[in-house]
Amino acid sequence: MIDLHTHTLFSDGELLPAELVCRAEEIGYEAIALTDHADSSNLDWIVPRLVRVCRDLNRHRPIRAIPGIELTHLPPGMIAAMVKEARGLGAQIVVVHGETLVEPVPPGTNREAIEAGADILAHPGLITEGEVIRAKERHVFLEITARQGHSLGNGHVVRLARKTGARLILNTDTHSPDNLITRSFALKVVTGSGLEAEDLQRMMENSRELLSRLP
Ligand SMILES: [Zn+2]
Ligand SMILES: [Zn+2]
Repeated sequence: MIDLHTHTLFSDGELLPAELVCRAEEIGYEAIALTDHADSSNLDWIVPRLVRVCRDLNRHRPIRAIPGIELTHLPPGMIAAMVKEARGLGAQIVVVHGETLVEPVPPGTNREAIEAGADILAHPGLITEGEVIRAKERHVFLEITARQGHSLGNGHVVRLARKTGARLILNTDTHSPDNLITRSFALKVVTGSGLEAEDLQRMMENSRELLSRLP
């Protein structure tokens, strides 16, 4: 598994980065991005710490740990500047918390995340076809999520991605150790979202491609 959206106790996850990475390796992950929730109050506090721990862990473990961030519940007008600031601080994967069906995420977040050039638009809910086309044009990956609640939008995202050719990535949005998934559970999530085994392979290749662009 490659999983590019997870949380540690630097936001609302349960585990220290070192333990999350250890547990991910234990169940067979090859790479994991640590993408804690941030707004302008904590971005500069979280990112340098994730950069440091990922660098340290990568010296000692076969799994690859990647420092990232999930920009969450920002007024859409703040997103572009925050994406830029996150990258400047060293975030290698910038996720934006999209317009999930289960939270009052500000309308316009999906559009701004795409235009700002986030790497991954997480759980984009009832994203419009125009936005999905724009995501394809801007090379922004749309997320299929294993997380309960957010996953209510998976079928819609799959339908529009199939229609437009937009590219998908599978993530867990892990907050606690039991949210990490094996490949066989990933296949169940994918199948339940209306996709097939080869789509899981394609999504893992998309994740790998995103990682190959990193320094
Ligand atoms: Zn999120
Ligand atoms: Zn998340």
